[in-house]
Amino acid sequence: MQEQALTCKVCDQGTLIKRRMYRLSGPIVLIGYLFLLSSVGAIVVGLLLLFYTGATSSEASESIKQEIRNKLTEADVPPSIVEDVLNRKRVSQDQVTGLSPKQMTAFFNARQSYRGTSVASNLMPLMALIYPAFGSGLLGLLLTMRKKVLLCPSCSAVVNAS
Ligand SMILES: [Zn+2]
Repeated sequence: MQEQALTCKVCDQGTLIKRRMYRLSGPIVLIGYLFLLSSVGAIVVGLLLLFYTGATSSEASESIKQEIRNKLTEADVPPSIVEDVLNRKRVSQDQVTGLSPKQMTAFFNARQSYRGTSVASNLMPLMALIYPAFGSGLLGLLLTMRKKVLLCPSCSAVVNAS
């Protein structure tokens, strides 16, 4: 598109120049930037948290492993099955059907809780942090939105471009 110099319609002297201006007034734009900053901050903290929990998750699951091992041993579950559960290996159908009801209950409970803790406990606080961060980030972007205008240097009249 060919750009052509436009003369100001207000004072008939100045040549309009293109500028980008905030759509909203100063204080609201400031609030918008606060939203943006806090959103970026929360996402950074969230990522740090992810790396931190990622680094310590093997250590944390050691205590969970111990707890599960105790429960299974208490229910007289054979040690080979206990190790398979802890190493996330598939336990064959034959092994499971050979168990007594008490052993089987302990086995299924252990497998369930072991699966649950590993994934959910690491991601839940992260999601709780990052989810609203996206919301406030979006709000920040909306509040700091800019528009193209034409500005007259002589009388400082502002005309909407486009
Ligand atoms: Zn003018």
